[in-house]
This record gives sequence, structure tokens and C-alpha cells, in this order.
Amino acid sequence: MLPWLSACYVAATLSAEYGRERALGSESISNEADKCVKCGLCLAVCPTYSLLHVETESPRGRVALMQAVVDAGEAAEGRLAAHLDHCLSCRRCEPACPSGVAYGALMDDMRALRFEHASLSARGVGRWLRAMLTGRPFGWVVGLQRILPALGRWGRAVKRWPRGAFSNGMNCVGDENSECPLVLLFPGCVSRHLDTALLDDTEWLLKRLGFRVRRSDELRCCGALHRHAGDGSRAERLETANRAFFERDGVHAVVSIASACAAHLHETNRDVPVFEVSDFIARHLPESGLKPGTLELNVLLHVPCSQQYPGPGSAPLERLLTSIPGVNWHYPESGFGCCGAAGSYMFREPGMAARLLQPLLGEIRAAAVDCVVSTNIGCALHIAAGLDDATSVRHPISLLVEALSVRDDG
Ligand code: SF4
Ligand code: SF4
Repeated sequence: MLPWLSACYVAATLSAEYGRERALGSESISNEADKCVKCGLCLAVCPTYSLLHVETESPRGRVALMQAVVDAGEAAEGRLAAHLDHCLSCRRCEPACPSGVAYGALMDDMRALRFEHASLSARGVGRWLRAMLTGRPFGWVVGLQRILPALGRWGRAVKRWPRGAFSNGMNCVGDENSECPLVLLFPGCVSRHLDTALLDDTEWLLKRLGFRVRRSDELRCCGALHRHAGDGSRAERLETANRAFFERDGVHAVVSIASACAAHLHETNRDVPVFEVSDFIARHLPESGLKPGTLELNVLLHVPCSQQYPGPGSAPLERLLTSIPGVNWHYPESGFGCCGAAGSYMFREPGMAARLLQPLLGEIRAAAVDCVVSTNIGCALHIAAGLDDATSVRHPISLLVEALSVRDDG
């Protein structure tokens, strides 16, 4: 029954979208690539260059490769295409670049050009994967608790994902007061099915901070996965639908619980402020008078690329963790900067994703931490899939809400 339903859903999605690609010229790629002065300052921060130590796996090498491809008027193929495919779109190279090369947008444009020239079957496979990850099929899979272990380490990670919200049963104020500013809680495609406990905790906390909270099934995927895969027409439709929803009913702010969605929504919405949730909570917690209780935990703080740039950085996370008595936290000392999850990268390039993750897993095991904290569900799942049951991967908000439920003696 399920495969049949899944096939119908995906077929309907694909048939509605074929033939509507936005034609992108190669001129914008060439102009942006021209800004590169080949200084190499971006090399040290690039995870794939740090792993493989070859120029073609660096930002500078990829910029040169893109320029050569568009100048030749061809689509990248074979090994050239593989070097572009290995790029995580983590954008760690952007803030390091003195010439202001907009590397993320450049790569998006290049992928859109390649998507346009790809065969119907290649486009179909990509769209099928994205439809599975961002649409209802993912919710169906999450619901199949018994068969999840058969899907390998990702399935096992999904199966042991925490379901119970710490906020359950705790008093909540502010929700009925129509004078309170309205916050739209953006769930994201994966979290809306898998992280319902975190959504409940976040709603409870936002209300305790004096906001009205709206959650809606009308909200769509943010479009990041499609945009970074070159599927511009689909991304555009999702971005436009969400923008129209945000601009209704006097929304004070949009708060996203996944840092990758927050980053994309922030860059595609100018009229309504969009916040990554830990950033929003860290701004409002001090004035609330809420006092977290003690949690005796050793925590490793993983800062996703999207949280680092273009997100708010690690400062809000540090403030939240420091506000919880007993939490002893530290940053990873090893690894390549990116854990290798990078949206659909962990499925498209599983070998590279595993190599990028390995040092981080080694450090987590050696440090014997109680939990890893991350603000992005994709990174959290990728890391959890490499760990055993003893080490959980948590969102900082779920940790904070648990601390708020603790009553310290005296
Ligand atoms: S986006 Fe990330 S992986 Fe790609 S070139 Fe830049 S730093 Fe390297
Ligand atoms: S830092 Fe910027 S200008 Fe320098 S090599 Fe990298 S992309 Fe080019």
C-alpha cells in the first residue's frame, strides 16, 4: 500500500513540475567568477579541501572550473562534475573571501545550469529524492516504527529520536492574550514529522516569553534543498507560497527550529524578520525572569554551517548553554568544520559524508559526552546515525526547556 501511495504522490509532484525550468544564462556565473583574484584565502576553511588537499576540491578551484565550463559553453561532465558535486554548499568560504565572491549563489546558478541540461531521468531521480525528503512520504516512513531499523543507521537514528516534550503539563501563559506579538513557528519538512517534541517545547517556551504562537500545515518546505540542487522553478514556488503566508495577519517574526531553513528563509524574505530559534530565545530569555534548573551534563556543541554563516553564529548557543547551571560544554577540536550532512549531500555523496563525519564521531566517543547539541535536524540525524544509543543528539531548546522543568532544592 505504502509504495503505491508513494509512487502516486511522487508521480503527481513530478508531472506538475516538468517543463517549467527557469532558463539561466551563463553570464551571471562568468561575472561572479571574475571577482576571484586567486588569493587562496578560502582554502583553509573549506572542508573538502581540508579532507582531500587537491585544488579542484577547493573554492578557488571550483570557481575556476565553473568559469572554464561556462566559457566553453558546455555542461560539466565526468570528473569535472564530480568536483562540483563534492561541494557541500556550506558557504564557509564566503566570509573568508576578501573579494566578496558570492560563492553560494554562484554554485546555485551553476547547478541550475546543469539541472537545465540534465536528462529527464536524472532530473526525475533528483526530484524524487527531494520529494521523499520534504513531502508526506517522509512522514509515512517516520510512522513505520517497526521497519525503520531495516533502513540502516539512518532508520535506527529516526527510531530512537526523542518523542516526549518536556513542556507537557507545564503551565503556559500569554497564548490567549491578543495583545501579545504573534510568532509564526516554522517547522521545516523533516522536523514537522520527526521533531514534534521540539516543536511542542518551543511553542511552550515562546508562550512563556509572552508571544502568541501559530503553527500551520499550510507552511511549505523552505525551498533550500531545491535551490541548492539547481531546481530553481520548484524553489521559487515554495519560497513565494511561504512569503505570502508570512505576510498575512501581522506576523511579528518567523522563528525556524532548523538553522538551515532559518538561513534560507532569512535570505528569501525581506519584509518579515526571520530568526533561528536559539537566536530568538537568547534575545528574550534574560528579560523573562525564567530561571533554568541544574542539569549535570557534559555537552559537545556542534555548530552547523548554516548557523555559522549566514546564520547568527555560535554566540546565542553559548548564551543558552551557559544559562543552564551544571552544563559543561565545549566545541569539537577535530573535524573539517562541516559534519558532511549538508542537506541531501549525505544521501547523494555518502562516502564523502562519512569521511567528513569520522573525526567528529571519534572525538565524541573519546570525550564520552552525555549529549551532542546541534541546531540543525539534518546534521543532528547524520551525527546520531553514527553513534550508539548511549549518546543522544539534542537541540539546545529541548535542553533549555528540560532545565526549566527542573526545580532545584533550596
Ligand atoms: S561551499 Fe563549502 S565545500 Fe563548497 S567550496 Fe565553499 S567551503 Fe568548500
Ligand atoms: S578567497 Fe575569494 S578571491 Fe581568494 S581564491 Fe578564494 S574565492 Fe578567490
